[in-house]
Amino acid sequence: MKLRILFVEDSKIDMEIELRQIRQAGHDVVVERVETKAAMQTALASHEWDVIIADYSLPQFSGMAALETLKESGLDLPFIIVSGAIGEETAVALMRSGAHDYILKQNISRLSPAIERELHEAANRRARREADQELKNNQARLNFLSEASGLLGSSLDYDTTCKGALALSIPQFADFCAMDLVVGDGQYSRLAVAPNDQQHARHIQEIRRHERVILMGEAELDGEVRDSVLEKSSICVPLIARGLILGAVTFVITDSDRRYGEKTLWLAQEFARRVAAAIDNAKLYREAQIAIQARDEFLSIASHELRTPLTTLSLQLQVAKRELSQGNDLPDRDRLIEVCEISLLQTNRIINLIEELLDVTRIRAGRLNLHFEVVNLSQLIREIVASFSPQLAQAGCQVESKIDSDVTGLWDKIRLEQIVSNLLSNVIKYAPGKPVKIGLIGKENMVTLKVQDFGPGISKEKQAKIFQRFERLMGPENISGLGLGLYIIDQIVRALKGRVYVESEVGKGSTFVVELPRAQ
Ligand code: ADP
Repeated sequence: MKLRILFVEDSKIDMEIELRQIRQAGHDVVVERVETKAAMQTALASHEWDVIIADYSLPQFSGMAALETLKESGLDLPFIIVSGAIGEETAVALMRSGAHDYILKQNISRLSPAIERELHEAANRRARREADQELKNNQARLNFLSEASGLLGSSLDYDTTCKGALALSIPQFADFCAMDLVVGDGQYSRLAVAPNDQQHARHIQEIRRHERVILMGEAELDGEVRDSVLEKSSICVPLIARGLILGAVTFVITDSDRRYGEKTLWLAQEFARRVAAAIDNAKLYREAQIAIQARDEFLSIASHELRTPLTTLSLQLQVAKRELSQGNDLPDRDRLIEVCEISLLQTNRIINLIEELLDVTRIRAGRLNLHFEVVNLSQLIREIVASFSPQLAQAGCQVESKIDSDVTGLWDKIRLEQIVSNLLSNVIKYAPGKPVKIGLIGKENMVTLKVQDFGPGISKEKQAKIFQRFERLMGPENISGLGLGLYIIDQIVRALKGRVYVESEVGKGSTFVVELPRAQ
């Protein structure tokens, strides 16, 4: 490699003499000679140098002034004075000021060994400086992560904590950063931290790399495509929690010539891990809160639902007791029969409610055991409709059936009965006074059951919820139910490898569709 020497020397001949010595020691050189401060400044700024060899006195400059000029530049280069004759005091002053060596012209053979020694020393100093800097950088990275972790763990309001954590990266690790969270199919919500000016505001809009990173699930360091002219270097890392990609964080350098490298990539990944965990925790917490609330509401509904028939039952028993204990008269037989009928009705209501609760427990425990047998669904539906006809008539629901004959399959009869009964009960509850259409179509491998009413209908938003556990969409006050019927239907249909869904429009009624494969 060529030795790059900057001479501060007015005499070309002197320079040649020194160069001959250096070349004799086996060095190949690149040389420039300057005689003024301005020329030296230009040379220092425009090229890289290995060593400076300066004369002590020049017509328009001096060795001491050259040393000052080097210091002003902030560069750490070996600086060697070569001079005809300088006194001991001057030599000491020069060394004190930072010159690395001085060599008398009559002793010029010392020059090469001095250069070599000083190059070695300068390399050592550089290595030490770099190690110190790396230590500081590592410390700064760890500080950033620990501050970010502290902030992220301080609250479950992740919007605020994430914004605060992102802001910690500026200006040390980025001039601009953004967090994009997946909120829907191909849709993101962005949280950005950037200098508050128009140029950056436009830049925020232009950043798109998160889309690629979220799709691929892999970090990107200075990707091939620049999103904006402002961007000099960038890192984009996915936010992954429990295997799910929640979004991405992008760090961008816009205002300096710094470049991101592997170490900042590591930092960004660690940061993203913490952010993703914080977001995930906040989400889980919110879901747990909603679940607890739903359970509490359910408990109050269930208590209310169980108390109503029990109150009626208790009243009927009181009536019976009064009848039986009145003197010696024989009790009114018809009256007692009526009491028994009402009591049995209420008892059945209680049994049904408890059965629903038990079904949910069975489903949760994975114990919804099915007993498969050949079932004639056409016949089963006709029987159930017949058994429901007094209630349907009382509710003013005229039934129109269109049932393919002898639609058979390998199913669980009791569970199919439950499905049809629950759907008819809902028609009576939610669509009284309107007709109901029941249809059954048997295809080669699949059968489709449809129960269509002309009641209030269910909004799109609510349709997504009604098949969930404990989901009662409050209707009129007097309609009772645990909000479990459709959940149980959905679970049974799934167990039978079919599906159930609703087609509905508010004000126009609802059609519940059950599709079942004939064989399992
Ligand atoms: P429940 O009837 O006990 O509340 P379901 O699981 O059977 O429980 O129904 C869940 C919710 O779906 C009901 O609370 C009701 O708001 C709505 N729903 C069910 N069937 C109908 C229907 N035929 N018409 C309108 N809304 C209905």
